[in-house]
Amino acid sequence: MSNFKEGSDSEDFGIDYAPAVESTSLLNIKEKYGLFINGDFLDTSSSKFFKTLDPSTEKPLAEITEASAADVDKAVKAARNAYEKYWMNMSGAVRARYLFRIARHLQERSREFAVLETLDGGKPIKESRDVDLPLAAAHFFYHAGWADKLEYAFPQRKIEPHGVVGQIIPWNFPLLMASWKLAPALACGNTVVLKPAETTPLTALLLAEVIQDVDLPPGVINIVTGAGETGSALVEHPNVDKLAFTGSTEVGKLIQRSAVKRNLPLTLELGGKAPHVIFEDAALDQAIEGVINGIFFNQGHVCCAGSRLLVQESIAEHFIDRLQKRIDLLRVGNPLDKNTDIGAINSKSQLERIDKLVNAGIEEGAEVYKPSCSLPENGYWYPPTVLTGVQQSHRVAREEIFGPVLVVQTFRTPEEALEKANNTPYGLSAGIWTEKGSLIHWMAERMRAGVIWANTFNKFDPTSPFGGYKESGFGREGGMHGLAPYLKTKRKRK
Ligand code: NAD
Repeated sequence: MSNFKEGSDSEDFGIDYAPAVESTSLLNIKEKYGLFINGDFLDTSSSKFFKTLDPSTEKPLAEITEASAADVDKAVKAARNAYEKYWMNMSGAVRARYLFRIARHLQERSREFAVLETLDGGKPIKESRDVDLPLAAAHFFYHAGWADKLEYAFPQRKIEPHGVVGQIIPWNFPLLMASWKLAPALACGNTVVLKPAETTPLTALLLAEVIQDVDLPPGVINIVTGAGETGSALVEHPNVDKLAFTGSTEVGKLIQRSAVKRNLPLTLELGGKAPHVIFEDAALDQAIEGVINGIFFNQGHVCCAGSRLLVQESIAEHFIDRLQKRIDLLRVGNPLDKNTDIGAINSKSQLERIDKLVNAGIEEGAEVYKPSCSLPENGYWYPPTVLTGVQQSHRVAREEIFGPVLVVQTFRTPEEALEKANNTPYGLSAGIWTEKGSLIHWMAERMRAGVIWANTFNKFDPTSPFGGYKESGFGREGGMHGLAPYLKTKRKRK
C-alpha cells in the first residue's frame, strides 16, 4: 500500500521501501463465534450477531455473538461453579502451572496472535509483534510467579480471593488488556467473566482456544462478547463479587455509580491527557523520538499517550521544526506491512471523533500541521497531526483525542511547566526530558500522574504498577500493587 508520496521527505532521501506484508495464511478465522462459557463455545443457533471488521479495508472478518443478559447470567453461573468446585481450593502452585501454560502457548502462537490483533484492530504488525504479544505473555509469566507467594506479598493480612470477577476491556490493546486483567485475577484465585470490546473481539476468542488447550478447568475464564449493553449486564449482575474496568472516563463513571450502590470492589483504568515536558537542555534527538513514540504509537489510541507536548519556549521553534521533519518520515499504511509506523484508526466512530476534535481546535485558533501523504481509499485513516498555538482553554488541550494528534504548548520556567502539566482532569502518565536529575525529581514529585517516565516514554513491565489519579481512575495493574485489588481480608469462619 502506498505511503508518503509527493512532497514528503522520504522522497528527498531517495528511500523507497518495498512492501513487507505479513501473511495471514496461518489464521483460521471462523465465520461465526459463539460465547465462550464453561470451557466451550456455545451453540450459536439462537444468537444475535454483530460483525467485526478489518479497519484498514472495512471488510468484515467474522460474525460475533452479542451476549444477552441471560447469556451473561450463564457465564457468571459457570464462573461461580468453577470457583467453588475447582479454583478456590486449588493450591497457588497448581494455579501457577496453568498461568505458565497460557504464557507459553501465547509465545508459541505469538505470530498468529499478532497478525490477528493487527487485522482486527488496525495497529501496525511491528507493534503487535514486538509489544502486545511479548508483554501479554510476560504478564502471565509474572503473575504465575506470584500465585503461590501471595502471603509473602501481604504478610500482615489473612487474604482470600473475591470469587467471581467481572472484567471489561477496551479496543486499543485487546489481548494485552485481557492479559493485564486475567493474569492477576487468576493468580489470586478468582474466576472471571471477561467482556472484550465490540470492535476487537478476535484475539480474546483465540485466547479461549488457548484456555481449552491448557486444560484450564471449565468456567475459570468465560468470555462474553457484545457492546455496552452486554457490559452493563455484567456490571449489574448481582452475583459478581468484584469489577475491573478499562475504558473511557464516561463509562467508568457509570460503572462506579452502579458499584458504589452495591458496595462492590472496583478498579477503574480510564482516560488520559499526558503532558510530555521538554526542557531546553534535553537531548533533542532522543526527545524527538520519545515524543513521536509517545503520541503516534498505536495511532495514539493509548490511554497514557504523551498527547500534550509542553516545550520550553527557548527551543520551541527549533524543536517543532525538527519534529515536523521527523513526522514527514513516518509511514502510514497497511498495518500488516512490517515497515508501517502508523496503521488504521480502529473504527469509523473513532475516526469521526478525532476529526471533530481537530476541527474544533482549528476553529478555536490552533494551527495544524499534517504531512502531505496519500491515505488509502478504503478503511479508516488519519495522518499524524500536530496542533500548535493551542491555549489551555481550547478543547484540544483538555479533552482526550485518542488519535495521532499532538497538541503543543510552550512554557518558560519549570513552575509554569508544572502548572500546565497538572492543569487537566486526568492524571495517568507524564514524561520529562532534561539532563538535570534534580529537575526530574523536582517535577516528578509534584506531577499528579500515576506513571512518570524520565528521558524515555511508553516503557511497560509487568512488575511495575500502572494506573491513574483523578479522572484517570483508581487501582493499579501490574506489580504487587496490582494483586491487592483481587484479594480481600479473610473473614473469620464461625
Ligand atoms: P469505552 O468506555 O467506550 O468502552 C470500553 C469497554 O466498555 C468496551 O468493552 C465497551 O463495550 C464497554 N462498555 C461501553 N459502555 C458500557 C456500559 N454502559 N457498561 C459497561 N460496559 C460498557 O472506551 P473505549 O472507547 O473502548 O476505549 C477507549 C478509552 O479507554 C479511552 O478513554 C482510553 O484512555 C481508555 N483506556 C484506559 C486505559 C488505562 O489503563 N487507563 C487503557 C486503555 C484504554
